[in-house]
Amino acid sequence: MPADPSTGDVLEVRHLTVEYDGVTAVDDVSLRVARGEVLALLGPSGSGKSTLLHAVAGFLAPTSGEIWLQGRRVASAERAEPPERRDVAVVFQSYALWPHLNAVDTVAYPIRRRGSGRRTARAEALDILDRLRIAHLADRRPAELSGGEQQRVGLARALARHASLYLFDEPTAHLDTHVRGVFLDELVVRREASGAGGLYATHDAEEALGLADRVALLSSGRLVQLGTPQQVYAEPVDLWAARLTGPASVLTAKVVGAHDGGASVDLGGSVVEVDSTGETPVGDGLPLLVRPGWARLGGELRGRLLAVRFRGPHSDYVVDTAVGDLLIREPGPPRYATGADVTWTLSRTWALGAAAPTETKRSLTELPT
Ligand code: ADP
Ligand code: MG
Repeated sequence: MPADPSTGDVLEVRHLTVEYDGVTAVDDVSLRVARGEVLALLGPSGSGKSTLLHAVAGFLAPTSGEIWLQGRRVASAERAEPPERRDVAVVFQSYALWPHLNAVDTVAYPIRRRGSGRRTARAEALDILDRLRIAHLADRRPAELSGGEQQRVGLARALARHASLYLFDEPTAHLDTHVRGVFLDELVVRREASGAGGLYATHDAEEALGLADRVALLSSGRLVQLGTPQQVYAEPVDLWAARLTGPASVLTAKVVGAHDGGASVDLGGSVVEVDSTGETPVGDGLPLLVRPGWARLGGELRGRLLAVRFRGPHSDYVVDTAVGDLLIREPGPPRYATGADVTWTLSRTWALGAAAPTETKRSLTELPT
């Protein structure tokens, strides 16, 4: 099915493969971005995020596969339209600012190109600079700005373009937390107002989960999983996906009974039922994912504290248990010291099976508390 305005997709990537001299950087990736949607590309360095963005922007041609923007095919192995023919705004890691333009003229430029008058463009540009907390730098040229300030001008310029698709390549990598928050809020407001879509590459799981409507996990150029932030966090397809998307403990619980779609597992003195469509024979260990908030101190299982860390709003406890090391996160200051004997319990777990990586077969198990 072609992407077209009636389906609401601003971008459709179909079976896209991009190679550099025999190195496959993007490997048969298919995805869509709907109007008003932000899709995060989450993957470690070298996983193909930048290559995918460059192909969508038009700086690289597909080796095979197709790219569609708003219902129009803009790239295939045979023919690729140049970047200026694509209605896409790009924020890459390096901000190529014009050396002769000051900040406000830089940001006003795309607004004037849209046909706004000089005064309107200047006012809108100042407004964007103000929201990114750099209005006081409006009259400075790049040479008079720090690296971080130049980045903010680059972001402001991208926001000033009213494109139908924004591409971001780790744009907040060098921003301080506060400006990053302001920028991300601004991004959300913009796309809600304009219906533009966004494709946002990052290696930072917290950022991807916090900002995107859906998240695509990339490993060595391949799409490993695509889902909402809640799905990729709570139901990762495999151990690699689990570790990429946030802090994860993996307990190895012995299977003591198996039945259709589930298994009984021993957590070291307490037998619980988990959903698991993977066929794990009785007697074998079943890897169980536990996120830090899915376990708590107190309960029927025993352990000993290997480490306790005060983190401000919450405390982290690493518990040595009969089924593996377990990270527990609880609000407030530490209640116990390292070395203490404690008890614990799970409120939730997710069986990590050995099914094919793109199939989400295993389901989430809610344990009685
Ligand atoms: P990411 O942005 O996720 O860090 P990239 O898209 O930059 O990943 O890189 C994906 C793969 O392609 C890596 O193996 C990288 O070494 C390779 N690669 C990137 N750019 C080039 C290039 N210009 N020539 C050859 N190989 C490249
Ligand atoms: Mg990159």
